[in-house]
Amino acid sequence: MISKVLIANRGEIAVRIIRACRDLHIQSVAIYTKPDEDCLHVKIASEAKCIGEDAIKGYLDAKIIIQTAKECGADAIHPGYGFLSENYEFAKMVEDAGLIFVGPKSQVIKNMGNKNIARELMQQNGIPVVPGTKVLNECKEEEIKEFAKKIGYPVILKASGGGGGRGIKEVWNEDELIPAFNTCKREAKAYFNNDDVFMEKLIENPRHIEFQILGDNYGNIIHLCERDCSIQRRHQKIIEIAPCPSISEHLRKSMGATAVAAAKAAGYTNAGTVEFLLDDYNRFYFMEMNTRIQVEHGVTEEITGVDLIVRQLRYAAGQIQELEQSDIKSNGFAIEARITAEDANKNFIPTPGMVTEYYPALGPSVRVDSHLYKGYKIPPFYDSLVAKLVVKASSYDLAVNKLERALEEFTIEGVKTTISFLKTIAKSKEFRKGIFDTSYIKTNLEKILSNIDDKNKKDKDEIIASICAALKDKLN
Ligand code: ADP
Ligand code: ADP
Ligand code: MG
Repeated sequence: MISKVLIANRGEIAVRIIRACRDLHIQSVAIYTKPDEDCLHVKIASEAKCIGEDAIKGYLDAKIIIQTAKECGADAIHPGYGFLSENYEFAKMVEDAGLIFVGPKSQVIKNMGNKNIARELMQQNGIPVVPGTKVLNECKEEEIKEFAKKIGYPVILKASGGGGGRGIKEVWNEDELIPAFNTCKREAKAYFNNDDVFMEKLIENPRHIEFQILGDNYGNIIHLCERDCSIQRRHQKIIEIAPCPSISEHLRKSMGATAVAAAKAAGYTNAGTVEFLLDDYNRFYFMEMNTRIQVEHGVTEEITGVDLIVRQLRYAAGQIQELEQSDIKSNGFAIEARITAEDANKNFIPTPGMVTEYYPALGPSVRVDSHLYKGYKIPPFYDSLVAKLVVKASSYDLAVNKLERALEEFTIEGVKTTISFLKTIAKSKEFRKGIFDTSYIKTNLEKILSNIDDKNKKDKDEIIASICAALKDKLN
C-alpha cells in the first residue's frame, strides 16, 4: 500500500487529491513555487516543500520533483492534470526511480499522448476514428491540398501532441489551408515542442461525448458511464454533464463497449478517458484518449458513487479492481460548471487579484472543488480555473434548476469571474432541453453576453439600498 504521496500539481486538483489522501489516511506532500506559497494545497497537505523561485518552472521540473519525493520518503507521485501529467518521460523517470506513478504506464502515455499513434492503434483494433490523415509535415503543399479535397471541406488541422483545446485550426476552403497549416505548425512547436500536424474531417456541430475508464494493473477494465462535454468555448470545456441527456440507452451501451475496447487496445491501467465525437446521424468516432484524471471527473463520481482519486491510488498500489461493469449503476444527473477568474465581457481576459469575499454555494447535492478562500490573491501565472461547481439531482431538469440556484448563491468578490456567464447558459432554453452541440457558445455568444445580469444585479442592489435608506429616513 502507498503511505505517502507527493502531489506534483497545484490549485484545486492538488486540494482534491490531498483530500482523497486524508480520507485514506495516506500522508501527502504538497510542492509549491515561491509565488504560489499562499495556495490552499500548501496549507492542507501533511507537509509542503518549496521547489523554486520561478512561478511555473518547478511544477515542470521532473528531476526536482522526484528528488523531493525521495527526500520526503514519498512512495508515489500523483500528477493531477496539466503540467507533467501527460509527459511520458516524467512517468518513466518516476518508474525508474522506484516510485509509483499514479496513472498508466509511461509507454501507454507515450502512445496515447500522440494523437496520430493513438488513431492508428485504434484503427488497427477496429475502433472508428474521425476520417483523417497521418502527419503532414513531410508532404508537399499540393499533396496536402489533395488530402483535404479527398476528405472534403471543412477539415480540421491538429497538433499531434496537442491538448487543452490548443493547436486546432478549422479550415473551410482551399485558400485557408496552407496558411492555417503553417500557423498550426508554428503554434504546435511553441506550445508542445512538437510541430507534427495532421488533418481530420471537421465533423460539423458534433457532440463531445467521453467515457470514464477505470482499470487495475491486471487487465480488469470497466467504464463509469459517459459525460457530455459539448458546451465548449474555443475547443475548451466549460460545462459537463453526466450522463449525456440526449443519447439513447442503446447508443450508450455501444459507445461504452467501444470505449472499453479502446482502453484494452491501449493496454490501459488506472483512470483515463476515451473521447468521442458524435455526429447528427449518431455515428461516433474516437478522437483521443486522455491518460490522466480529468478536470470534470467529479460529475462521474456523483452519478456512480465511485471516488476516482481513491481508486487511482488503490489501483496504482496494486489492488485488484473488484468492481465489474454490471456493478456500475448511474444514478440521476450531475452537472459541472467551471468557474474561471476571467472577464467574459473582455474576451475572457484573465482577472487575477485579491478575493475579498468568498461564499461557495452549499446545500444538498452541491459540491465545490476549489482552492479559493477569502483573502487569497489569485496569481497571474496559472490556469484561470478557480472553482468547479458540481450539482446533482434525480433528473436533468432538476439538476439544471439546482445549477441555476447554486450559481445564484456562489459569491466571489474582488475579481471578475465567469459565474454570471455560466448562469446565463444555465438559464437558456437550449441548455434546459439538453440539446446542444460544440458550436453552442460560438453561435450564441453575443446573446449570452448581452443577457449577463451582473450590471442589472448591481443596479438592483443599489435601488434596494436607496429604498431602504429612504424608508429609514421616513421611519426616523
Ligand atoms: P479535461 O478534459 O480534463 O478538461 P482539458 O483539455 O481541459 O482537459 O485540460 C485540462 C488542463 O490541462 C487545462 O488546464 C489545460 O490547460 C491543461 N492541458 C491539457 N493538455 C495540455 C498540454 N498538452 N499542455 C499543457 N497544458 C495542457
Ligand atoms: P484536445 O487534446 O485539445 O482536447 P481534442 O482532439 O480532444 O483536443 O479536441 C478538442 C475539441 O475540438 C473537441 O471536443 C471538439 O469540440 C473539437 N474537435 C476536435 N476534433 C474535431 C473534429 N474532427 N471535428 C469537429 N470538432 C473537433
Ligand atoms: Mg480532448
